[in-house]
Amino acid sequence: MREQLRKEIPKGRCFFCNSVFSKAAMTKHITSCKAKATSEAALQKSRRSSKNNKSFHILVEGRYLPEYWMHLEVKAKATLDDLDEFLRDIWLECCGHMSAFTIGGRTFISGPERESGEEGFDIELDKLLTPKITFYHEYDFGTTTDLTLKVLSEREDSTSEWPVQLLARNEAPQINCDICGKPATMVCTQCIEEGGWLCSECAEEHECGEDMLLPVTNSPRVGVCGYTGNGDDEEDDDLDWEDEDDEGFFDDEDDDYGENGEDDDDLFADDLMFDEEDEEDLFEDDEEE
Ligand SMILES: [Zn+2]
Ligand SMILES: [Zn+2]
Ligand SMILES: [Zn+2]
Ligand SMILES: [Zn+2]
Repeated sequence: MREQLRKEIPKGRCFFCNSVFSKAAMTKHITSCKAKATSEAALQKSRRSSKNNKSFHILVEGRYLPEYWMHLEVKAKATLDDLDEFLRDIWLECCGHMSAFTIGGRTFISGPERESGEEGFDIELDKLLTPKITFYHEYDFGTTTDLTLKVLSEREDSTSEWPVQLLARNEAPQINCDICGKPATMVCTQCIEEGGWLCSECAEEHECGEDMLLPVTNSPRVGVCGYTGNGDDEEDDDLDWEDEDDEGFFDDEDDDYGENGEDDDDLFADDLMFDEEDEEDLFEDDEEE
């Protein structure tokens, strides 16, 4: 399935300086980005540092679709719930499915419906993660989207304002219409395995009909269930499904973590950039991951 996707790992964009790097080069860049350092220095000045400044640098990617990837800075005091919420917000949420983390042989399940041996999401990452740990996230136990998360490093002096801060994110992979080769904008959920990626013109003539079509989004959940990139369609579009259980820990009710999912409309702008001269060096750095 999706042969055309498998070939290329798209580059990604640094959230701070807007520069574009390959997936592996981004790991180095994030630790040396001057814009990030400047913004952190400003924040350090403006707030009295508290004791809870430890954070983890985490690389998240589609377990079977590594072309979708993100670098995150996650507070050690953040909970699995915070991380799950961020992942849903930016990449996953369609209709409020259950989700799970698997960390070192332990299974953690969202919501109240747990079986014996399973734990909930109300646990701090500090109690679970150390550098070099790889762990897993599943969203929706029917048509599952699987993510791999790697703890690249930890730091003691984080200035991030949010439980989870986006550091960098892949550019939208270029996916072409299976019929005519133009950039695909829609995907048929029935035909996603074969011939289901469609440009807007070919989508109009697609035999499965409009109801089967979903927009192409920059997410490993593209084309799955009812995923449109706009959060849970049964609630408002403001991505506001979170329970009011933040306890003011992060002193900030605003659940806008950064550019959460906002750039799904930018597919074409991103594709244009991507087309230019950077295709050859895409692979160079990618082995080490
Ligand atoms: Zn940067
Ligand atoms: Zn769904
Ligand atoms: Zn087409
Ligand atoms: Zn179809």
